[in-house]
Amino acid sequence: MTTHAPQAAHTVTLPGSLDEAVAALAAMPAAVPVAGGTDLMAAVNSGLLRPAGLVGLGRISEIRGWQYQDGHALLGAGLTHARMGRPDFAALIPALAAAARAAGPPQIRNAGTLGGNIASAAPTGDALPVLAALEASLIIAGPGGGRREIPVGHLLTGYEMLGPGELIGYVRVPLLHAPQTFLKATGRTGPGRATASVAVVLDPARRGVRCAVGAVAPMPLRPLDAERWVASLIDWDGERTLAPEACTAFGEYVAAACIPDPAPALDGGEPGTLPPAALHLRRTVATLARRALGRALA
Ligand SMILES: Cc1cc2nc3c(=O)[nH]c(=O)nc-3n(C[C@H](O)[C@H](O)[C@H](O)COP(=O)(O)OP(=O)(O)OC[C@H]3O[C@@H](n4cnc5c(N)ncnc54)[C@H](O)[C@@H]3O)c2cc1C
Repeated sequence: MTTHAPQAAHTVTLPGSLDEAVAALAAMPAAVPVAGGTDLMAAVNSGLLRPAGLVGLGRISEIRGWQYQDGHALLGAGLTHARMGRPDFAALIPALAAAARAAGPPQIRNAGTLGGNIASAAPTGDALPVLAALEASLIIAGPGGGRREIPVGHLLTGYEMLGPGELIGYVRVPLLHAPQTFLKATGRTGPGRATASVAVVLDPARRGVRCAVGAVAPMPLRPLDAERWVASLIDWDGERTLAPEACTAFGEYVAAACIPDPAPALDGGEPGTLPPAALHLRRTVATLARRALGRALA
């Protein structure tokens, strides 16, 4: 007889430090780490995952806060969405706070963590486009007290994966001291997973605009040409305003880059047209990107 009833893990370990958690995973390679459990326990309850053991990260106080470091914020992977949504955090990294406030209903935001959002790497993960636009990096804790740092994009694209026994310990985010926005469309009222999301970050020191689009592809997309084009229109030494037509053109540029027209037929014929659902998604992305840029420059 088969059953989809959740099966209890045989061992549950509750380490008090990151290195103890890594050691617990090394001692039991079949165990999986669990932070808030909002993604992991859903997989266990639906029978998709039957871990032999769990290493709970909830008691590791060193990863539940943040600290300043060389012009960056070092965010603990155990920060919850609820904590990141608070005003003191929003003053530091406004777009990440906006994403955290949009990440599901309150009970999910109270338990779900930044590290879990990144490790799950769901296309709809709200923190992910923000971290991509901020060009954040991850500090990975490994066996023997080892630490290595990788760009967040490397993990999200699968270019570099977590090795056995490794954990995301911290997220290093540059503090840009400039406006940044995150907007999300859900296709329904109330909390919901993104159908599309856009993060826009101004980087006045580098005279740059950085944008990432979430939920329309397996990982956040960076429309680099659109970023460069719009940054060249901004008077960085002046009022940093843009004509509404330029914001609209930016939105369309971003959307066309992320949801391109179908390629021309091999015989050189006309390119096909986008199906209605893709056209709708492209319009949604264009609107989000236009608004996100307009708000960042307002
Ligand atoms: C009803 C519902 C609505 C949701 N809505 C949203 C939403 O709107 N937006 C959104 O972004 N997400 C949403 N989520 C998804 C989820 O809440 C987030 O992805 C959350 O951030 C996951 O964090 P967690 O701590 O609960 O992760 P867990 O469930 O504890 O872990 C998830 C995965 O990450 C691994 N992991 C956790 N921490 C680490 C670490 N430090 N290092 C390495 N691996 C680690 C675990 O082994 C597991 O594989 C929703 C979930 C539910 C159930």
